[in-house]
Amino acid sequence: MNGKKDYTRQTYARLMRCLSLNYPTFSIADYSLAHNRCMLPESYFIVRHDVDGNVKNALAMAEIDAHYGIRATFYFRAKPLLFNPEIIKRIGALGHEIGYHYEVLSDTGGNYERARILFEANLKMLRALAPVCTVCMHGRSLSPHNNLDFWKKYTLEQFGLIAEPYLTIDYSDMYYFSDTSHCWNNYRYNLRDVVISLGSRGIETTDELIAFLQDSEPKKGALLTHSNFWVDSWCLWWGNRCLFFLLNQLKLYKKRRLTQK
Ligand SMILES: [Zn+2]
Repeated sequence: MNGKKDYTRQTYARLMRCLSLNYPTFSIADYSLAHNRCMLPESYFIVRHDVDGNVKNALAMAEIDAHYGIRATFYFRAKPLLFNPEIIKRIGALGHEIGYHYEVLSDTGGNYERARILFEANLKMLRALAPVCTVCMHGRSLSPHNNLDFWKKYTLEQFGLIAEPYLTIDYSDMYYFSDTSHCWNNYRYNLRDVVISLGSRGIETTDELIAFLQDSEPKKGALLTHSNFWVDSWCLWWGNRCLFFLLNQLKLYKKRRLTQK
């Protein structure tokens, strides 16, 4: 970590500054539209945030993005403690895309009909605050249900949607960097946030990622961050470190069991 704490808001701001200075950036909706019209530049980065917790921090990150001229996508869960209409509207007003971070199969124990009803209700609730044309599954890695399976029975079009990052984006010629598990090398722990891509070059720290983004080779990539990870409070920061240590051990255990089957 070169003496600096990783996963702080300050580090996040350095990362976004670097990204904005070196690449055109796209939200999920903007990328999807540009892709369909064959209007993508030679190099670019897609920027997406999953608001899994700490909604106030999502606003702080949205302000940093906007400061550097980055229009990103913020995916919100429809959970009572996380659904904050005021903050969602403020993030939308900063120019960012608002999307729905769904987990309806996990919520309904895999019941597709109840999941559809819940999905429609939550989408309607979010659309009352901002236009929503893309959705993204919440991993819920410890749940037996994969929320992406929802699309085995339903289509995006029937809900007026144009994109789902795990379903409609081909990452095979892109680098994919996700902070899931508090580590950019997302193939080590992740169970569901895994896509076919050029990978993450084994990059672990944000300083390594910044150095990679600054080199002269033109590249395409996708960057995923979580609002609850990038905190300045000593207490929250250490809380995250301990939580992810335990969660990552659980995920490794689950991964080992899945590969043994
Ligand atoms: Zn999530």
